[in-house]
Amino acid sequence: MDLPDKQEEACGVFGIYAPEEDVATITYFGLYALQHRGQESAGIATFDQTDDGSQFYLYKDMGLVSQVFNERTLAELPGSLAVGHTRYSTTGASRIINAQPAVVDSRLGKIALAHNGNLVNVDELRESLLAADVKLQTTTDSEMIAYAIAEEVNAGKDWIEAASIAFRRCEGAFSLAIATPDGVIATRDTHGIRPLVIGRMGDETANGMSRYVVASETCALDIIGATYVRSIEPGELVWLSEGGLTSYTWAPKQERKLCVFEMIYFARPDSVVNEESLYSYRLRLGQQLAVESPADVDLVLGVPDSGIPAAIGFSQAAEIPYGEGLIKNRYVGRTFIQPTQSMREAGIRMKLNPLKDVLQGKRIVIIDDSLVRGTTSYKIVRALREAGAKEVHMRISSPPVTHPCFYGIDTDNQDQLIAAQKSVEEIERKIGVDSLAYLSWEGMMKATQQEPNTFCSACFTGKYPIAIPEPMQQTKLRFESIRR
Ligand code: SF4
Repeated sequence: MDLPDKQEEACGVFGIYAPEEDVATITYFGLYALQHRGQESAGIATFDQTDDGSQFYLYKDMGLVSQVFNERTLAELPGSLAVGHTRYSTTGASRIINAQPAVVDSRLGKIALAHNGNLVNVDELRESLLAADVKLQTTTDSEMIAYAIAEEVNAGKDWIEAASIAFRRCEGAFSLAIATPDGVIATRDTHGIRPLVIGRMGDETANGMSRYVVASETCALDIIGATYVRSIEPGELVWLSEGGLTSYTWAPKQERKLCVFEMIYFARPDSVVNEESLYSYRLRLGQQLAVESPADVDLVLGVPDSGIPAAIGFSQAAEIPYGEGLIKNRYVGRTFIQPTQSMREAGIRMKLNPLKDVLQGKRIVIIDDSLVRGTTSYKIVRALREAGAKEVHMRISSPPVTHPCFYGIDTDNQDQLIAAQKSVEEIERKIGVDSLAYLSWEGMMKATQQEPNTFCSACFTGKYPIAIPEPMQQTKLRFESIRR
């Protein structure tokens, strides 16, 4: 069975300044923990600060982190500081030239930039860079940000000033880790749409300094034994250098708009957001779902792995036993060699195997974290029925996804989002369930235990916190373009 169709992840970024450490290997493990955020390519750039100046090293390739790097390639990346990136392509074709970190030259040396997010003013930025005679090498917005910094550096600014000016030219979602010969710059856009956290490494150095890392999620801090310090603030620039960590502000803070889909699905359940693990949040989503849309069943199942915390929460609140009725082949996982579309359509089995003896004669409710295209849900339902389930009900621990994302998540066009096209009853028939219900938007927000206005939830509401230029809207918002 195919794994369920989902919104595709964004990217993972990591940065470190620690001259006494093997920064490339630490970055490798950071990226390894962030692998779920992007499986197409991986890269690490380092600067080795010596008495003769800073030497630059880079290695990137297509594939998973563990496929791209080995002990030999990591040994060829000496350095005092590093940035790393694991990529899912949201802009630019999936080619090695678009793999990150994106590297450009400047008056003060090379800039290696790792980006998570999407700019919405790419056309404007591209035009202004081309007008300044910049020779863009790739089709990514990430390279444009690097060139925008280089332009200011070449005009005589220092790193902090140049980056601050460049960031003010960018609109959209961007969490960045940028290696320079002198230190690492990390920042988030003014709404903080994509996450980026700071961690502290070990003890203070002999000169009383602490060493810091930045990463997309706290799970990347845990794997390297770093302590979570805090999230980078929207509009904040963090500079990691010989002097430790210095914080600057390049734009007044606007209303926070963390992507709520990070909470529901993208980020790992063991990552911490707003001081608690996402596992706890997802448990509450399931509890709330059981209150809003109960099901008269014998057993609660979760779609592995991402639906399981909400399924456990549902089971707790409904006081119905939770069971494992679908076993995932843990050794299939994500593979660099993706099946072709025709293979997928022919039904290639990527291993979710139903347990007949658990399911036989049972009325079950299966919980998933989201329903985006609906192309594989019916296969799960069919397999559950073939395994003997008497009734199959489906509950989704988020609201219907009706709008595409423009901020770094690869959603389909609006006309491919099943909830934008069909009513709940039509989807029930299409996927073959006895009943289907989604969590309400209010329920999803209540479970965050935070102020709802501090999240972006545009793919559920169509209310985009950063205006999407008309030409970009037309690429994805097909229904709305037609309606207009
Ligand atoms: Fe996240 Fe959806 Fe907003 Fe995109 S539109 S940033 S996926 S909540």
